[in-house]
Amino acid sequence: MEALWAANSLDKADALLQQIDSASSPLTLQHFSQNTFSAADESAKHIDSFEPKTGRCIARIPCASAADVDAAVKSAKAAFPAWSKTPRAERSRLLRRVSDIIAENRELFAVWESIDQGKTLERARIEVDRAISNFSYFSTFILHESTSSRMVDGVALTYEHRSPAGVFALISPWNMPLYLLTWKIAPCLAFGCTAVAKPSEVTSMSAFLLAAVFRQAGLPDSVINILFGDGAVTGSALVAHPAVHGVSFTGGTATGIAIRRATVHQIYKHLSLELGGKNPTLVFADALTTSPASRAKTIRTAAMAAFENQGEICLCGSRIYVEQSVYDEFVAAFTEYVTAHYRTGETVGAVVSLQHYAKIRGYLETAQHRGMTFQTGSVPPVIDAGETGKGYWIEPTVLTDVPATGPGSELLREEIFGPVVTIVPFADEDEAVGFANDSEYGLAAVLLTNDGGRMRRVGEQLDAGLVWVNCWLVRELGTPFGGMKNSGTGREGGEYSRDVFTVARTVHLATVEW
Ligand code: NAD
Repeated sequence: MEALWAANSLDKADALLQQIDSASSPLTLQHFSQNTFSAADESAKHIDSFEPKTGRCIARIPCASAADVDAAVKSAKAAFPAWSKTPRAERSRLLRRVSDIIAENRELFAVWESIDQGKTLERARIEVDRAISNFSYFSTFILHESTSSRMVDGVALTYEHRSPAGVFALISPWNMPLYLLTWKIAPCLAFGCTAVAKPSEVTSMSAFLLAAVFRQAGLPDSVINILFGDGAVTGSALVAHPAVHGVSFTGGTATGIAIRRATVHQIYKHLSLELGGKNPTLVFADALTTSPASRAKTIRTAAMAAFENQGEICLCGSRIYVEQSVYDEFVAAFTEYVTAHYRTGETVGAVVSLQHYAKIRGYLETAQHRGMTFQTGSVPPVIDAGETGKGYWIEPTVLTDVPATGPGSELLREEIFGPVVTIVPFADEDEAVGFANDSEYGLAAVLLTNDGGRMRRVGEQLDAGLVWVNCWLVRELGTPFGGMKNSGTGREGGEYSRDVFTVARTVHLATVEW
């Protein structure tokens, strides 16, 4: 851990990885429970973790067994009574300390997040900043909470009392590893719950570093435990454990369904499921024609929403719909902008894994076979599993002439989760809303227009938990975050996170002789 902690620049990290490589003893992550790191048995299953930009193996991820999960949940359960009663001021102080330590080591986290996930260093820094805010936000939120009270006709005073729900399973995906895991850990601990967290087995590095932060910050033993492992064994055992009172999960819709199924008889379990998306970006003609500045902003925003983090953000706008009258103009200007500003290896990183590369490649092959037009981008080469040193690079790809139905229409319906965007024309507002809502998902939507009436008229009709008008990815941590339809259930953020991590009871105090 010391060597890893000291590797806080890309050069130092590269030197460390080369040293590890030449010693043929790969970095093996360790589970974190009872405030202690422990190495998994060599007999335990391990997964190799690869650097997306080069394809080299950088670490071995141990897979916690059902017995490991049971032990960690029992530790979190033992820590719960004291932590749930710890004064808010103290919980706040400790979380503030966590936030400060991450901030002091911002570059370390950014470097390893970039190496592990494939994102650019610049993008990684933004996400580390958001992780810092997750802890600082909830550390102060709990100091200013209020709950409701009512009088019952002069008979009783009633008030809402909140108490921490218990032990939580916190499970995150690979696309924004530190940011999404801390989005769960920070409110969970702030509201007095304890947890066993499991990052994605594909990108576990920043969670390993985060465990060291919890130790430095002096969090009490077992309040937060971090286990590594896959979904089939570790994740499944964790969500189904009877002593787990709730699951905050972010990942794919199929996994969300599996979790709901696995916990169906545990009716007491709080489930917060943040799932996949296939988000529309609607471009109205006025956004292009009002002024040159508006036109530039529209193209920039649509491109950013499509290609930030290689399109590997659940909130990316991967289906662009453009008003017919400016369609050709938009396609040309958008393609020119993307080609100039989104360059692989510079402003665009590598996609997360070989498996994901193959999945995205499959969609692009379909696009080619079905005669769709590649305005930019192409089908990337096949990479064999044994080939190393190449990295998983896919050029930003803009597709037009995508069929709305039949073979090939899956590009408009399924989550590709990569640097691929489709552009389709629409005739009028009704058709735009119809196209946008023609999806099993309902996570986010981007609306680009200068018409004030339309902003509300269209914005309020979109099936999306988050609607951004003339902007994208703006977040205020107190607002509800989550999706409609198959994009999930439950909302998190501020008091919505409190709903996830606490139980509410209404206390009635008689105000008259009863
Ligand atoms: P995934 O569902 O495959 O895995 C997510 C996590 O769940 C991983 O930690 C994995 O190990 C674990 N897991 C897998 N099977 C499990 C099971 N049966 N029980 C318990 N845990 C299990 O998703 P992914 O491929 O890592 O991430 C990509 C998906 O995440 C995309 O669909 C993307 O849209 C979604 N996502 C959603 C949001 C959001 O806020 N709605 C944010 C980011 C990513």
